[in-house]
Amino acid sequence: MSTDMSTETSTSEGVQTLESLSPATGDVVGVHRIDTAESVDAAVARAREASKWWAGLGFDARREVLGQWRSVLTRRMAQLADVVHQETGKPHGDAQLEIGLALDHLAWIGSHAEKVLGRKRVSPGLLMANQAASVEYLPLGVVGVIGPWNYPVFTPMGSIAYALGAGNAVVFKPSELTPGVGIWLADSLREVVPDHDLLQVVIGSGETGAALCRADIDKLAFTGSTATAKLVMATCAENLTPVLIEAGGKDALLVDEDADLVAAADAAAWGAFANAGQTCTGIERVYVHDKVHDQFLEELARRAGTVHAGTDAGAQIGPMTMPSQVDVVRRHVADALARGGRAVVGGADAVGDRFIQPTVLVDVPEDSAAVLEETFGPTVTVRRVRDMDEAVELANASRYGLGSAVFSQKRGPELARRLRTGMTSINSVISFAAVPGLPFGGVGDSGFGRIHGPDGLKEFTYAKAVTRVRFKPALNLTTFDRTPEQDTLVASMLTALHGRATQLPKMPRRPLATRGGRSRA
Ligand code: NDP
Repeated sequence: MSTDMSTETSTSEGVQTLESLSPATGDVVGVHRIDTAESVDAAVARAREASKWWAGLGFDARREVLGQWRSVLTRRMAQLADVVHQETGKPHGDAQLEIGLALDHLAWIGSHAEKVLGRKRVSPGLLMANQAASVEYLPLGVVGVIGPWNYPVFTPMGSIAYALGAGNAVVFKPSELTPGVGIWLADSLREVVPDHDLLQVVIGSGETGAALCRADIDKLAFTGSTATAKLVMATCAENLTPVLIEAGGKDALLVDEDADLVAAADAAAWGAFANAGQTCTGIERVYVHDKVHDQFLEELARRAGTVHAGTDAGAQIGPMTMPSQVDVVRRHVADALARGGRAVVGGADAVGDRFIQPTVLVDVPEDSAAVLEETFGPTVTVRRVRDMDEAVELANASRYGLGSAVFSQKRGPELARRLRTGMTSINSVISFAAVPGLPFGGVGDSGFGRIHGPDGLKEFTYAKAVTRVRFKPALNLTTFDRTPEQDTLVASMLTALHGRATQLPKMPRRPLATRGGRSRA
């Protein structure tokens, strides 16, 4: 397979290779050997061996290794940012920012893994009072990660680092648009653990991804589109391999009548246009209270006018990393304009061959592609609402449910709670992704499962429950030697334990007819 920003070719020896191209210039920035199903299986087998060693190390030694890896990543941050810049086209500063966030998560994992996953005592309850009960969270073994190109460090590291922190080995298939970043990450960990295949990379397109799904892995963490997520799930189902799905969103920002409008417009612009809109939790829809709509729109238009996409030093955003996405954005903008929408900033002419300039659309019908589908470009729709109830209703009408944002002085927490999304930022955008202790993930078409935080660590483990007899029980419940007297005692105990409600609810009268199945009347 070939896409516009990577091409697959064959050498004279018949080896399939993949060329990674710069989305800004089309230059070849790397050539990589494509993995076959056999080489994917071999990588997973090596990972299996490494996983045994890694799981056996325990929390302290793993924290030490992850800490050393963090140091390597930190000291080589500029090199890694260069590779990200070459393969995605995003500005160097943005690449550095996503690496910085990944480092912060790595530090959190090191200092929290034992607390979250380590063995904990659990109350055995009265009936099992003679037992000691405990639970711990053990590594699954080998985790497969299929990653995207939009944040080729931060997003896959949400799975890779948490899976490693929980004691697993990882086989990672980066997007075919960003193979160099994946290889760089694996090489940097190999500097710390040269003798163990703790993190390996397999290269290729969807076929390689499918081979990873079919391989002998214990879980598959996927980030990408909802459509591909369904294929991934179907393939993983063949071996009952569990999956974690992070499948994008259509995030809404709500602006209440008492909001700080300058801050809201600034955040909306950044949320919508940063990384050229290629952010799963990017702001794609804004719902603004009638009383402040015009003022907000004016401020957002002013802000959007100061942002431009390009390769010059002043450009805040780069090219579209996946050029076929340009057609998606063009279709959404054209459809919005054809159906009565207006472009306050940008518009049809803003969509170029590789670069898309910020676009703000108003009066766009709620059933148009620009409102329903993931646009994944630097565009945003703004709609006036009569109150925040309408804003919540429209925001929740999406099939997606990843992130959201609320700007309000008084009602932030209340509105946040009513939004059917996995995460909400109040008076900022996307902040939840940068808090390592918070889970990241969505509902509906945005997928299920969580990366980040305690949930993200547990996602790559299985709960192991253990009971141990501490002393001989006065009343042994699990024996065939139980007597009728003991059963009577158990009944009294159960009544004392669970039947203490003083007044029973009135049961509806059962019609006499139900007994014999015939009505007497
Ligand atoms: P896809 O969902 O098509 O691909 C995501 C990953 O899955 C890639 O690594 C891809 O490999 C791999 N893959 C493709 N087919 C299969 C398969 N049958 N089995 C296993 N793995 C497979 O996303 P794209 O990158 O093509 O982007 C398409 C759309 O997805 C975007 O327009 C955007 O809307 C959304 N998206 C969402 C992201 C998010 O953060 N949630 C991130 C990126 C995209 P390869 O790329 O090598 O073909």
